[in-house]
Amino acid sequence: MKTVKLHDKVFEISIERAKIEKAILSIAEKLNDEFIDKEPPIFLSILNGSFMFTSDLLKMLNFNSEVSFLKLSSYSGTSTTGEVKELIGFNKNIEGKIVIVLEDIVDTGITLEKIIESLKSHNPKEIRLATMLFKPEAYQKSMKLDYVGMEIPNDFIVGYGLDYDELGRNLPDIYTLKK
Ligand code: 5GP
Ligand code: MG
Repeated sequence: MKTVKLHDKVFEISIERAKIEKAILSIAEKLNDEFIDKEPPIFLSILNGSFMFTSDLLKMLNFNSEVSFLKLSSYSGTSTTGEVKELIGFNKNIEGKIVIVLEDIVDTGITLEKIIESLKSHNPKEIRLATMLFKPEAYQKSMKLDYVGMEIPNDFIVGYGLDYDELGRNLPDIYTLKK
């Protein structure tokens, strides 16, 4: 079993790159069907974790779109703190536009709820949610996730943009914390 060591912890490979790419492609295909003759939406990518997902997804799309980035964080170490910081430096005009939020992973859903609340005050026409990964067992909210790449168990993972205290984001496969 392939493993990586990040700081004090060991992680085992759990989802290979090809499988992640297939999951992203499934989102892209759905978007390509739905946006073929719609106005260009704005993708809002949530940093830092979503950078790799965003880059891969956008290259698979065949309609016009804008992309912008939002920064915030709710995680410290390997368990959620339940505290979500404010959106940092958001100055994009989204009024009257279709916004598609791009998340790396939805866990409890607290982060996403906070983002949606903040975005609503900017009067977009519509907000849709897309996430590469989703942990259904951890989810505490009722917001509908419009585009989900893959459902995963409630374990702490790294790779493909996701970090453990800032390490591991560059890994092209996903790894799970070894028990
Ligand atoms: P939520 O607010 O839904 O509980 O958590 C969302 C955020 O927590 C994600 O955007 C991500 O940054 C982080 N997160 C949730 N689960 C994991 C995980 O398994 N690994 C890592 N590295 N980050 C996670
Ligand atoms: Mg994140």
